[in-house]
Amino acid sequence: MALKDFVPYGSDVSAGSYECADCGRKYSNRSKTSMPPCPNLDRLPHHRVSWRILSEQGDALSDPYPK
Ligand SMILES: [Zn+2]
Repeated sequence: MALKDFVPYGSDVSAGSYECADCGRKYSNRSKTSMPPCPNLDRLPHHRVSWRILSEQGDALSDPYPK
């Protein structure tokens, strides 16, 4: 696992699936946009404040034709 698999809050990212690096909450980003803070940020301690990249849409079988 490389550090580039993590993106901090507010980063511009590709559409795909992400998981909170701190609490494990899944987040599916369907449009190319910047990542929001984790919804659990106020309730749980978050030290990494970043998302782990699970998959990017360009690699998904359901989307064989990336634009
Ligand atoms: Zn979280």
